[in-house]
Amino acid sequence: MKKISLLGATGSIGRQTLDVIRQHHEEFSLAAFSAGRNIEETRKIIKDFQPELVSVELREDAVKLKAEFPSVKMMHGEEGLVETAVFQAADILVNAVLGSVGLHPTLQAIEAGKKIAIANKETLVTAGHLVMAAAKKHGVELLPVDSEHSAIFQCLQGEKEKNIDRLVLTASGGSFRDRTRAELKNVTVQEALNHPNWSMGAKITIDSATMMNKGLEVIEAHWLFHLPYDQIDVILHRESIIHSMVEFQDSSVIAQLGTPDMRVPIQYALTYPDRLSLPDAKRLNLLEVGKLHFQPVDQERFRMLALAYEAGKSGGTLPTVLNAANEAAVAAFLDGKITFLQIDELVERALEKHQSSPEPDLETIQQTDKETREFVRSLL
Ligand code: NDP
Ligand code: MG
Repeated sequence: MKKISLLGATGSIGRQTLDVIRQHHEEFSLAAFSAGRNIEETRKIIKDFQPELVSVELREDAVKLKAEFPSVKMMHGEEGLVETAVFQAADILVNAVLGSVGLHPTLQAIEAGKKIAIANKETLVTAGHLVMAAAKKHGVELLPVDSEHSAIFQCLQGEKEKNIDRLVLTASGGSFRDRTRAELKNVTVQEALNHPNWSMGAKITIDSATMMNKGLEVIEAHWLFHLPYDQIDVILHRESIIHSMVEFQDSSVIAQLGTPDMRVPIQYALTYPDRLSLPDAKRLNLLEVGKLHFQPVDQERFRMLALAYEAGKSGGTLPTVLNAANEAAVAAFLDGKITFLQIDELVERALEKHQSSPEPDLETIQQTDKETREFVRSLL
């Protein structure tokens, strides 16, 4: 029996992780989890999975839940996230919290020697150099959950890093892939949230529409697979059937395919190097699919992808600024405070204004993250 601790249990990845645990209750159990403010859902999860430790965002919610479930250890806030991440009885941490709030708990889990299935890409973007160095130092495995990175990880089984020529990340193009930039002027939040292939949390769905998601994923791939940016490419592939590919020195290309279902990469991270059945996953029928399409990405149209490559290549605190500005701008868009095209503008302005520091430590990163969010809010 593998015991799991889960950050972000009430989210899109969190709920799908719980589904995987439920389907394999003889293999997995939920030892600890964190949620944000969705207390109704938190109650249900406690009843269904009977974990030992639960953490929520707010103190008053933790107090309320403690009265309802006296035998469960109840925590809250940043400290609760960290306690969940390092929970001693857990064999593996699934980090599916949203945003750079996941950085500190991830570093603490690494120090505690926890194996980590990482969905929380913002953590790798904001401080990839710190996370990877800590993982190396403590001999901790980081198993990718993001579908593209899981695909690459699967393609690399039995392969040597030195033989890789390039990674090709596929991108669906998001909700507005068939519109010109001019046609994006008056799009609504509802339209932006309508992703053609994947049902995901609100923030990542907006990131897909701006293509910042692919930009974050390029930086994530750079860290997870130790490759320079000029060996990481992106192509548009509207069906999201090929989840990503690796091209090797001998010109051979290995791809991983499947119908879009995040439970597959989540489960693979939990069972690696083994696999388990997933009875209700829809099997890929290529005869039914018929055709797969590929297109280059227009970097003018998808400005955010170009910005992410630039920030990633420059390094220092620029990736932190890229991520924090984007988190703040997307939140403002979801709140109806700015238009869709203003997301790019705000991120660009934050990057332009910033004086990057090389090799930032944790304190510098946290300070940069905070200042960037304040700067973006000051522009609203
Ligand atoms: P959601 O918005 O659906 O879920 C986010 C989770 O984090 C919720 O449980 C939420 O709690 C919790 N949370 C948010 N803010 C805080 C906070 N300040 N303190 C504590 N908990 C908090 O996001 P997704 O599941 O879509 O994404 C999670 C991560 O996985 C992201 O990094 C995303 O990029 C990545 N990812 C997601 C994919 C997907 O298919 N959804 C695919 C690949 C990667 P609550 O709701 O209770 O407030
Ligand atoms: Mg992805």
